[in-house]
Amino acid sequence: MKTQAQAIKYLNSLEGKFVDFDNAFGFQCYDVANAYWYHTTGHKLYGLYAKNIPTDNNFTGYATVYNNTPSFLPLPGDLVVWNGNWGEGCGHVAVVTQANLSQFQVIENNWLGGGWVNGKPGWERATRRWHTYDFPMWFIRPHYAKSKPVIESIVKPKPKPTKKKFVLVAGHGYNDPGATGNGTNERDFIRKNIIDNVAKYLRSAGHTVTLYSKKQDMYQDTAYGYNRGDTKNYGLYWVKNKLKPDAVIEFHLDWSGSNASGGHVIKSAYAADGIDKGIQKALQDTVGTIRGITTRNDLLNVNVSYNQNINYRLVELGFITSKKDMDYIKKNLQSFTKAIASGINGKPIGGTPAGKSKKITWAWKGRFTANTLIRVRTTPSTKGKAVPKSDWIKKGQWVDFVSITKANGYWWIKFKYPNGANNKYFYCAVCRITDKNERIKKEKYWGKIKWK
Ligand SMILES: [Zn+2]
Repeated sequence: MKTQAQAIKYLNSLEGKFVDFDNAFGFQCYDVANAYWYHTTGHKLYGLYAKNIPTDNNFTGYATVYNNTPSFLPLPGDLVVWNGNWGEGCGHVAVVTQANLSQFQVIENNWLGGGWVNGKPGWERATRRWHTYDFPMWFIRPHYAKSKPVIESIVKPKPKPTKKKFVLVAGHGYNDPGATGNGTNERDFIRKNIIDNVAKYLRSAGHTVTLYSKKQDMYQDTAYGYNRGDTKNYGLYWVKNKLKPDAVIEFHLDWSGSNASGGHVIKSAYAADGIDKGIQKALQDTVGTIRGITTRNDLLNVNVSYNQNINYRLVELGFITSKKDMDYIKKNLQSFTKAIASGINGKPIGGTPAGKSKKITWAWKGRFTANTLIRVRTTPSTKGKAVPKSDWIKKGQWVDFVSITKANGYWWIKFKYPNGANNKYFYCAVCRITDKNERIKKEKYWGKIKWK
């Protein structure tokens, strides 16, 4: 086992190299992790998918697996493992070089998919890069040799504010109205209707929100600084240096000559984070989406956000040329902007979000035979009115059910009494929900279920 200092020194030496530990499939994320891990601990990492590293390997006695939490601070030298939402289902693995509570830096292979291209080792070298946290996410820390003092994470941890500082930007401005359609233009419509409302809802959730001046155009301001080589005082540069936001969200409306409809989120090559995904989901649940979260490198503010490591995205809220989109936004302005704000917030603001409610009932059929006395109610809820005790289901009795419902921490079945005495549907709980993924078939019932 190496000391932490030796491990970090080796890790840093990998940057910029083509690292292929197993001589297979070019420069996979696994290769940097394994080269580092083998050098540091003398153990190899096994398994097919990076996401399964924490469970495919036995770290007992030489390393500790930590689940990421909002207060967890990785240390240099920790392996970091991404879940299956990444790497086309395989997850991802990298090695941490430094971290604070809002982001961490790694050295890694194949983040951009250039490790193995057209059946040959590709162009992507081991790269140093910042990432944001995700859940679940795992950090694996070697039990380093103790001859030297442990290096603390170089950025001092500070208590993570649960409330964030957002900057909202209305696209276009000054003499540039942006796209026009349906009797309005981007500049005016977004200033008048969108950003104040999104700000209102974010503030109601306790966040600090600053609007980029409506009298200005952040794009033109950024370009002014960019053209003068002034990366401090104008546009998005100024936002970063003066406002120091946790995230910047710029709003636009799309334009199309045809009848295209739906919004989408645009961002730099940094991986989409919770805010990007939250907004995209809000669009999907409201005005609809025309495509998924899209990486672009031909937009000034997107590129500046990438170079300056600013948490930024540009949101196309829908098509200004689509009567359907514009009618939807105008008619549902409050629920729409609340849904967008909830997406930014990471969870619903002020009760149920706009859009679809979560599914709790499935038309799964079967026969339930009780092994104890089961209370029967008129609705699938612990608040539902109970029928007289004489009509409860007794041990050994069965009912055929037509659907299952998840409510109040129980699974409920919907059934009629088999004797036909009462032609109405009734409900009873058949088990508590204990399975982490809430799968009824993983539960222990108060009796037996034969599925049909
Ligand atoms: Zn625009």
